Amino acid sequence: MAKETHEFQAETKQLLDLMVHSIYTNHEIFLRELISNASDAIDKLHYQSLTNGDLLEGDTAFEIHLTPDADAHTLTISDNGLGMNKQDLMENLGTIAQSGTKAFLEKLKESQDADSTDKDLIGQFGVGFYSAFMVADKVTVVTRKAGEEQAYKWESTGDGEYSLEECQKPKHGTTIILSLGKDFYGDDSEENYTDKMTLQSLVKKYSDYIRYPITMDFTTKEKPKDADGKVIEDAPEEEHTETRTLNSMQPLWTRNKSDIKPEEYKEFFQHQFYEWEEPMEIFHNRVEGAVDYTALLFIPGKAPFNLYYADYEPGIQLYSRHVFIMDKCKDLLPDYLRFVKGLVDSPDLSLNISRELLQKSRELSLIGRNLEKTILKTLKRNLEKDREKYEKFWAEYGKSLKIGVYSGMMTGENNVEKLKDLLLFMSSKDGKLCTIKEYVDRMKDGQQKIYYATGKDKEAIEGLPQMEMLRDRGIEVLYMTDPVDEFAVEAIGEYEGHRFHSISRGDLDLEDDAFKEEKKKNEELAKDNEGLLKDMKEFLGDKVADVRLSNRLKSGAVCLVADAAGPSLAMEQAFAAANN
Ligand code: ADP
Ligand code: MG
Repeated sequence: MAKETHEFQAETKQLLDLMVHSIYTNHEIFLRELISNASDAIDKLHYQSLTNGDLLEGDTAFEIHLTPDADAHTLTISDNGLGMNKQDLMENLGTIAQSGTKAFLEKLKESQDADSTDKDLIGQFGVGFYSAFMVADKVTVVTRKAGEEQAYKWESTGDGEYSLEECQKPKHGTTIILSLGKDFYGDDSEENYTDKMTLQSLVKKYSDYIRYPITMDFTTKEKPKDADGKVIEDAPEEEHTETRTLNSMQPLWTRNKSDIKPEEYKEFFQHQFYEWEEPMEIFHNRVEGAVDYTALLFIPGKAPFNLYYADYEPGIQLYSRHVFIMDKCKDLLPDYLRFVKGLVDSPDLSLNISRELLQKSRELSLIGRNLEKTILKTLKRNLEKDREKYEKFWAEYGKSLKIGVYSGMMTGENNVEKLKDLLLFMSSKDGKLCTIKEYVDRMKDGQQKIYYATGKDKEAIEGLPQMEMLRDRGIEVLYMTDPVDEFAVEAIGEYEGHRFHSISRGDLDLEDDAFKEEKKKNEELAKDNEGLLKDMKEFLGDKVADVRLSNRLKSGAVCLVADAAGPSLAMEQAFAAANN
């Protein structure tokens, strides 16, 4: 067969054009893509060889080998997988079949037209083989399909055409030679893909968990040793070449829980997520069902200082068959679990679908719902069985759950039912944290409402004049010292039929006879003093909405209260803070 030239399919051209003229900075993911293709090809051969052992041609040591050549400015990635014949090459490396790629193309163009700052776009999509053109001026593929004799050489500079010709290749599998562009080799380059250290760390970063060895040769120069193992000082240096495996191949999460030591989890957590503390909770689940997945999640020992700020990026790492897909998938877990770190590995997540489609995929939301349930179950169990542990958790992440309760109202999720029994509030009873249920269970006979007070801290609340009356009556009050507390109880509304009632509100209705009696007396007094109250109100003008006689005061002469219908003082303060 003579050398042939073929045009790429129209869409492929478009994609290539975008790759070649890529303005994106995340070039390095090409290596992940090529390695994962090599791994897929080995998977395929491995699978076919189960029924046809001859395909292996006696070569059973699967391997992906990297050969950087600093002088030739090339990086070669070779595998002994299935390989491709002519038809495979034309179908696979000339057209775009993957469903996600079209969506990717659109997104990519959009962002390029808009001079987008989203430079990580490519890294978030699996654009596959063509990403090689981000770093290479020319890509050469030499491949022979296992079980067939003829090998082929495919070559393209990414300008719309590729060439095909027959060639020789003793070993089955595929060798991809990247002739690197001028920015991607040399010691002066910031992205030198002929540098072994760079390649080594990229493999660690993106492909550590590939199940086949990813190898590279390292050459060392040493003086020889004598029979006793002593270095012969005056002998010339000898070169040794050693093939090293760069990936660890066995991901921790694929191992049996019972075989993993606590230190291994801890080390993995710290290494993988740049954490210093130990995790306070570990979830390691392997699930088979509608969707198969393995999840390894952690609750970090300490909340990051910016957990509630815009620059905090929540999210879970996604893997598919141990290949890294995405670093921070936000849509897996609800926002109130934004502090959870970890990863999900599922063969049902596609590497080649756009980030957007992936995040909306049925598989992902199924996994997410399962994980949410698992986490909530564990938190509930801790609350019941290990209160000390739970209170530690609460101190770090309680705010997140409280925000979840009311923000759920806006996003349409019903977080109230899920979270209301996990909330803790400080109680006037013993100065300890209690759940709403604990409060309700020990309410006094006849008490209908759940009383709470807002203030900047415990002391401020205990100094409230209104507190005195409740204290005298032995009525327990929940202290809301965090501005989000009141939003949360407002969202909950009532618990087992008992409404939340702020004692800082205008209308402190204590329900008992003594209170009613006093209230009646007060009303009479108010009538008698109508003129006085009116004068005071006029005098204070805009500063107040009303001046009333109160029976909620004992030793204090006056107190400021919020209007019963309007926002409470704490909410007003929170709004004011948010608007600044
Ligand atoms: P995907 O991996 O999602 O299929 P790619 O663009 O990464 O998309 O690769 C396109 C196709 O090219 C693959 O599906 C595969 O058939 C073929 N291919 C790529 N690399 C190799 C390889 N190293 N060995 C065999 N086939 C390959
Ligand atoms: Mg691929």
